[in-house]
Amino acid sequence: METTQCLIIGGGPAGYTAAIYASRAALQPVLYEGNAPGGQLTMTTLVENYPGFAGGVDANELMAAMREQAVRLGADIRRGAITEIDLSQRPFPVKLSDGKELSAETIIIATGAVARWLGLPSEQKFRGLGVSACATCDGFFYRRKDVAVVGGGDTACGEALYLAGLCRKVYLIVRRDVLRASVAVQERVKAAENIEILWNCNTREILGDASGVTGARIERKDGEVFDIPVDGFFVAIGHHPVSELFSKWVKTDAEGYIVTDGRSSATNVPGVFAAGDVQDPDYRQAITAAASGCRAALDAERFLKK
Ligand code: NDP
Repeated sequence: METTQCLIIGGGPAGYTAAIYASRAALQPVLYEGNAPGGQLTMTTLVENYPGFAGGVDANELMAAMREQAVRLGADIRRGAITEIDLSQRPFPVKLSDGKELSAETIIIATGAVARWLGLPSEQKFRGLGVSACATCDGFFYRRKDVAVVGGGDTACGEALYLAGLCRKVYLIVRRDVLRASVAVQERVKAAENIEILWNCNTREILGDASGVTGARIERKDGEVFDIPVDGFFVAIGHHPVSELFSKWVKTDAEGYIVTDGRSSATNVPGVFAAGDVQDPDYRQAITAAASGCRAALDAERFLKK
């Protein structure tokens, strides 16, 4: 059976950065990047907040460059997913979607998180054409325009406040008559002059044409149906960490995020580390994911040296 000192699972900023560092530490890492390499960032277009690119950088180009950098330094990056894993014994046996098996001395889990979506066909149709799950990534494109945010949690309220600083008007579409967000954040949202909360409302359909989103059709609980004109539609109804495969052994919180030890990337299983959005419910940025990938590779290197 093939063996590796360091198996990295996930092809986003965390996984590729872990591969860069693990390669430079001569761990000869093997990285499985899934079937949609690049991670969540590839859902957006221009990335303007990744340091080092004064004029911004195309999201796909950024991910391709990270990948290429890891390959140039010696990482063995492969398409495909992990289908089975056993973290009860080290080295850890792993089965792969290509039918191969390998055994890993250390594992870095960098499988990320996926945004929850409403599940409307029009939402799918306009993804990248006005529908987004990340205001920090895409909000800038709607400067001085009208937008809508769906959700009533900390993410939705945070996104609404962020967008309120950029946009002319922000509709916050909330399905109940209360917000779930922390009180301080709720107060800021309610005090913002250009945020209108649409209470007890659900989105029936996102409206648009060939140029992208033009509005949304809303249904209030009392049955009233009305349209709001918006250019951007942000879905912020929560994220879902991709941790199911590991949660039998690795400690997760109530939401499924992998719990790491203090400032390190160590999980409760010696030799297993977690990086990026799969262990981060708060920041969820490419740069923070990349930084945690760096930490995980350094932690794996130190673990192997012990
Ligand atoms: P949450 O699960 O807290 O909130 C999800 C929101 O979306 C709720 O208002 C929920 O409504 C609503 N919702 C869910 N499904 C639908 C749907 N199908 N249609 C319409 N609305 C829907 O997710 P968040 O991403 O906001 O937060 C996740 C965690 O991260 C929380 O613990 C939060 O506190 C934390 N967080 C912390 C931040 C911070 O401290 N700075 C920033 C962001 C997040 P309902 O209430 O009716 O269920």
